Order: sequence, then structure tokens, then C-alpha cells
Amino acid sequence: MIIALTCLVAIAVIAFILTVRPNDLPEPEPVSPFAHLDERKAAIYENLRDLQFEYRLGKLSDADYQSTKRDLQKELAGVMAEIDKLRNGLPVAEPPKQKPAKKPVGLVCDSCGAKFEKELKFCGECGKPMQVAK
Ligand SMILES: [Zn+2]
Repeated sequence: MIIALTCLVAIAVIAFILTVRPNDLPEPEPVSPFAHLDERKAAIYENLRDLQFEYRLGKLSDADYQSTKRDLQKELAGVMAEIDKLRNGLPVAEPPKQKPAKKPVGLVCDSCGAKFEKELKFCGECGKPMQVAK
């Protein structure tokens, strides 16, 4: 009975993969930085589902089921933490603060308007003291 059920499930899974795959393939790769984490999360969820399924079928001992489930949940927690960390670390939520446009000090003479490449204490044109950024 169990073998027959397992075969049925295997056939169903193969049929599912065969019918779904061609539709999935042309989809472009997601560029989200969470993509690989999401994939891992999905894989862990799938493993958990499989595990529960096999446990229900009686293929796993209680101890095996509990320990594997614990491992998977631990892995899942790790992935979630990584996603959170990534999410918090990303500057998407807040645009970077723009620096107020500062008038270049020491580059343009206030007195004669001469421009210089470097900051100067005294204007090279009129010799008057220029404001130097500290
Ligand atoms: Zn000057």
C-alpha cells in the first residue's frame, strides 16, 4: 500500500515537473538580492513539507522526524535572519541624504572673482585674503 502510494506520488511529481517546467523556463532571473535567499527559504519549506509527508507515511521514526525538522527550522531561521539583515542593510528605504550645495571656499576670490584650482589663503590676482575651508 505504502509502495503504491509512493509510486503514485512520484508519478504525480514527475508529471507536475514536466507540465510546469516549460512555462517556468522563459522567465527572466529575478535580480533581487534576496533571490537566492528566497530560493533557499522555498527549498527549506519544501523539505519540511516532504519531511512531514514522509513522517505521516510512516517512513520516518519520530526521533528522525524531530531532529531533521529541528535542523531545517534552524536553517530556515538562519536564512530569515540573513534576509532581515540584507533588508536592513539596504539603502532602498531611505534615499541617501543629499549634501547641501556648498559654495566652494578658497577657490573663488570674493574681491575680484578670480578662480583658482586649489584653495589659497590669499588671492593670486588681487592679493586679498580668501576664505579658506578649515
Ligand atoms: Zn582677488
